[in-house]
Amino acid sequence: MRRFAFNQDLKGMPIEKYDVVIAGGGLAGLYTALNLDKSLSCAVLVKKELMLCNSSLAQGGIAAAVNEQDLFHLRDTIKASAGLANPSLTGFMVEQGPKHIVRLAKMGVPFDTNEQGNWLTTREGAHTRERVLHCGGDATGRLIMQRLTQLALERPNIHILEHHFLTDILTGDDNQVCGAVVYHDQAYKFLETPSLMVAAGGIGSIYKHTTNREGTTGDGIAAAIRAGAQMQHMEFVQFHPTAFFNPRTNQSFFLISEAVRGEGGILRNSEGVAFMQTRHPMKDLAHRDITAREIFLQMQKHNKKHVFLDITSRSKSFLEKRFPTIYNACKDQGIRMEEDPIPVVPVQHYFMGGIKTNSRGQTNIKGLFASGEAACTNVHGANRLASNSLLECLVFGAQCAEAIYNSPHTQVALPPATINQGKKTDTNFGFLADEIREIMQTQGGIVRNKKGLKTALKRLDQIMEKLEPLHINTPAQTEVANMALVARHIIAAALERKNNIGAHYRSDA
Ligand SMILES: Cc1cc2nc3c(=O)[nH]c(=O)nc-3n(C[C@H](O)[C@H](O)[C@H](O)COP(=O)(O)OP(=O)(O)OC[C@H]3O[C@@H](n4cnc5c(N)ncnc54)[C@H](O)[C@@H]3O)c2cc1C
Repeated sequence: MRRFAFNQDLKGMPIEKYDVVIAGGGLAGLYTALNLDKSLSCAVLVKKELMLCNSSLAQGGIAAAVNEQDLFHLRDTIKASAGLANPSLTGFMVEQGPKHIVRLAKMGVPFDTNEQGNWLTTREGAHTRERVLHCGGDATGRLIMQRLTQLALERPNIHILEHHFLTDILTGDDNQVCGAVVYHDQAYKFLETPSLMVAAGGIGSIYKHTTNREGTTGDGIAAAIRAGAQMQHMEFVQFHPTAFFNPRTNQSFFLISEAVRGEGGILRNSEGVAFMQTRHPMKDLAHRDITAREIFLQMQKHNKKHVFLDITSRSKSFLEKRFPTIYNACKDQGIRMEEDPIPVVPVQHYFMGGIKTNSRGQTNIKGLFASGEAACTNVHGANRLASNSLLECLVFGAQCAEAIYNSPHTQVALPPATINQGKKTDTNFGFLADEIREIMQTQGGIVRNKKGLKTALKRLDQIMEKLEPLHINTPAQTEVANMALVARHIIAAALERKNNIGAHYRSDA
């Protein structure tokens, strides 16, 4: 594996200095930046524009036990995780949750309330209590991100650097971070810092079908792997049971939040049978992995490309108010939720694995922190409980901010790095990206097996070998190298884990 994706000598690169660099401006990155001590200069790198992240797509909401009678958030999370989530870290997260919701509300985030001004809460899959808070019905992520963006732009110590692509993480003596190489405006530059946080999100774009934004290529995870960071739980990829599927174009488009089932939606197969009623005691609100797999099996059994989500029991006025985003998106596709069952399929949605961190977001590399979907804090185990990811961004983002403040702020000298200039190439990176997506969709998907995983690993190794000596010079090319590296780690971990647990399911186990 090559140590760096970039190919240019560091000497002569423009240098900028910051106390902290946060790679990623989704909820994890922005909330950490806002929690940082104002005396620290902080750059927040964003691949494109600030609102173009997965955080702003979040519909269902944030899970937090804001109701005093709710003592079951920990139990539900551990159960959903197939018992693999770390109980003390998870306990810490759920205990801290309500405090951060209060904080967000004080910062001006408009959580939905009833007429008495009390927060509205709902249920999603595997939640035994109503504890999911939301904003604007189903526009939770967008409204949170809009408010935090306003606040970040008002802070003189926070520098939002849009169109700055994190390429590599650099380390010096004693395995300590000394900065990051980023690509901006057709050129590389070096950002010198003793504290670098990876908050660059998940990996959805390495799959053919995903709810994630285009360009979610696991760049932060890949850069951390190249720098020597430890990974954890790479085999656990979550598939959301219900993404809209357009039978005319054979494409899945947008997420239909689990909250639709929380408000009475029922899954039906092509014969109209409500198959989850007999599959699990929690019926349509069973755990995500179980529901996604059952839909997959129903599609196979009836040789269909989708199943249906039926919420016709609810009125037009309720649906328009409670799910304005979903209602209008369905309407644009010719589906009226109050009259028509919605065609849905399971698609890649979330990554439980990632950069291994402790409770303060620290990794095995000094000065390297990680938070959000790029991190594996082990609060999701083998399967994430719905709406716990925004919560994780808040709780562990705040933890990172404190740990960064308490870590040394002295710059470490950059060791002379030998950069392999690489061979110029006419390789078609677009073809390779498509091939990686196809491999992951067919061999690294909802149901895996040893033979398929071995074939996938062999081909990914060949792709990595092909990329190894090449001159990679653009973010688009770096993304493909990152996709191959992350995909390889996922497949290798899936081969390694022979038992079926949570989202990892092998038909040969
Ligand atoms: C459609 C959808 C609905 C969801 N609904 C919910 C929900 O209701 N509740 C819930 O809890 N979770 C939900 N999730 C999951 C949740 O939104 C994500 O897990 C969470 O937002 C991740 O936050 P993050 O800050 O880690 O990453 P993101 O929000 O994805 O942000 C990643 C950031 O990293 C930047 N970045 C990436 N690569 C680079 C690079 N190379 N250089 C520089 N910057 C880079 C991006 O520009 C972006 O700013 C949903 C996800 C999706 C896709």
